[in-house]
Amino acid sequence: MTKVPEYFGSMVFNDKVMQERLPKATYKALKKTVENGEALDLSVANVVANAMKDWAVELGCTHFTHWFQPMTGVTAEKHDSFISPQGDGVIMEFSGKELIKGEPDASSFPSGGIRATFEARGYTTWDPTSPAFVRDGSLYIPTAFCSYTGEVLDKKTPLLRSMERLSSEAVKVLHLFGQDEVTRVATTVGPEQEYFLIDKEMYDQRVDLKLTGRTLFGAMAPKGQELEDHYFGSIKTRVSAYMRDLDEELWKLGILAKTKHNEVAPSQHELAPIFSTSNIATDHNELTMEIMKKVAEKHGLVCLLHEKPFKGVNGSGKHNNWSISTNTGENLLSPGKHPETNYRFQLFLAAVVKAVDEYQDLLRITVASAGNDHRLGANEAPPAIISMYLGDDLDALVRSIINGDDYESHGRERMHTGVEVLADFKKDNSDRNRTSPFAFTGNKFEFRALGSSLNIACPNYMLNTMVAEELSQFYEALKDADDLQEAVKALIRDTFTAHQRIIFNGDNYSDEWVEEAERRGLYNLKSLPEALSHFMDKKNVDLFVKNNICSEDELRARYEIDLESYCKQLNIEALTMVDMAKKDITPAVSAYVRELTDAVLSKKALSDTIPVIAEMDIITDLSDKQTAFAAHIAKLEDEINAAASIEDNQEKAFAYRNGVFKAMEELREIGDAMESETGTDFWPYPSYTDLLFGV
Ligand code: ADP
Ligand code: MG
Repeated sequence: MTKVPEYFGSMVFNDKVMQERLPKATYKALKKTVENGEALDLSVANVVANAMKDWAVELGCTHFTHWFQPMTGVTAEKHDSFISPQGDGVIMEFSGKELIKGEPDASSFPSGGIRATFEARGYTTWDPTSPAFVRDGSLYIPTAFCSYTGEVLDKKTPLLRSMERLSSEAVKVLHLFGQDEVTRVATTVGPEQEYFLIDKEMYDQRVDLKLTGRTLFGAMAPKGQELEDHYFGSIKTRVSAYMRDLDEELWKLGILAKTKHNEVAPSQHELAPIFSTSNIATDHNELTMEIMKKVAEKHGLVCLLHEKPFKGVNGSGKHNNWSISTNTGENLLSPGKHPETNYRFQLFLAAVVKAVDEYQDLLRITVASAGNDHRLGANEAPPAIISMYLGDDLDALVRSIINGDDYESHGRERMHTGVEVLADFKKDNSDRNRTSPFAFTGNKFEFRALGSSLNIACPNYMLNTMVAEELSQFYEALKDADDLQEAVKALIRDTFTAHQRIIFNGDNYSDEWVEEAERRGLYNLKSLPEALSHFMDKKNVDLFVKNNICSEDELRARYEIDLESYCKQLNIEALTMVDMAKKDITPAVSAYVRELTDAVLSKKALSDTIPVIAEMDIITDLSDKQTAFAAHIAKLEDEINAAASIEDNQEKAFAYRNGVFKAMEELREIGDAMESETGTDFWPYPSYTDLLFGV
């Protein structure tokens, strides 16, 4: 077995490979493009393409693909071989043009109506800031995707733009502080990824999991997560083998997989990488999710990334750890030893506080999905109300700034373990408030409301853009100040004072917070349709247009696509449910009732005195439930038809939420109650016990 440092990144066209394989001048030109965003000319691209091809062919590649992130929510790829006819045979060729630009047929990707069919062409353009890599015999080239007329059709382009935007605004502010050596600022992200692993044989017997990613019926198992014995518990052999394989595959691709452990729910696990720049973190997270599924196949397992595969146990989320650092290696969200006099830190903190307060709705929108609607607001994930947690120390600092009091840093408190052999250690200043959707954790913010399957490009481009906007306003307010220090202090104080309502250090899961948040005038957007009804609010459109992230049309397209895919997903779920109810569950319950009825008749035939009460009770009860079940199937069908006939996407989404989804919940309740009473041999699907404890 080779050692990790030897194979780490072996499938990546990384800096080391470039240095080895590119002429010096080409390498330098490419570096400039990557580091400073300078345009790359074709002659350079030709040399790079050729070197990439030679490298990829040596690793067994026959094809290349432009890899992109359209609005479907999954990545897309179309593979072309390197072959080019020569004489009677072929040679392997790859040009700079092919590297830089691709033209996939774009007409089948969602465009939210911005791309008329006569201009259906779409282009992919190479993103040299994210390295190319090799997978399954193909050279993968990360690209951005836009239409012939230049409209953005993907998730990556706005992210790249937002990073540029935040960089230029932050640099301007830093120059005010005299930090002229800083020329670029990058946002960094470390996404913690939760997932479920279940047995493939069980999965194959569940049409709901196959078509929708979640169980639409399923009575709770006698045991769930109540013993809290799974979290950080010892990892089962089969899961451990899977995790080892997964790490190896990720490491080969240069992905910094770092932490793995069991999560709260049975069969639930987590993987966290070491952070990298937002762009690479996004590509790596997309790859991680794909590879999680692929590796599971090899182990006879299925990896579920749905936000709520099982009712009654925790669903899966993703924590987006986010920070800002300079090209000189400083983390701008690090408070340092003396945050009370670290005005630069305070100013950046103020920018984030102001951004989260002014654009709470956008942060909520960016994590809205049909799957995540099952989590936000339940007592397992942060609530739908967006607020911030700063920790005791920073909170005291902010209070003292607002009130004009003195603040004394307590330094870090010592934590006493009370056991001699264990060294005392210092307590983390930002004690973990696990219930907060947006928590300061030492030198970064952790946005915790993301669903597990979400492409993190979206929350990150929104976050970057809103913070860039605040920094640009700060710069304007400060640039002509006579006494910069006084002006900075006043701006920080005014900002904290105006936006303190967004800071909340208490229990976000409590009912009191819901009331308190309402008093504070914070949004509580409980579902996707509610959240999205704010997408096109003027302030939000202005934010993206002013910062050149996307146009109003592009934004509207995103809004329509999100609503459409929500409606489609609920429609598929509802139809699957009707199918299961009619074709599997109803016949199964009938068969069981008949079996009991036969038993009753046989007993009676034998003798009048044998009691049949037990069977009779079940027969009566199940028959009653079957009647109610049939009525609710019909009701669900009516709701589906009503919602499907609505034209307007926003109105339609509300109909799916308030009509279809509600009818699904009602139908499920009866179905699950019948499952609890029906003989195991008769029930058509593996139970929650089989699914959650089957590996
Ligand atoms: P946990 O939240 O489980 O306690 P950590 O705080 O150690 O774990 O880190 C969680 C994630 O935050 C990791 O992916 C880590 O790489 C990432 N992280 C740490 N520092 C930064 C940073 N400056 N920017 C972005 N992400 C970071
Ligand atoms: Mg975390």
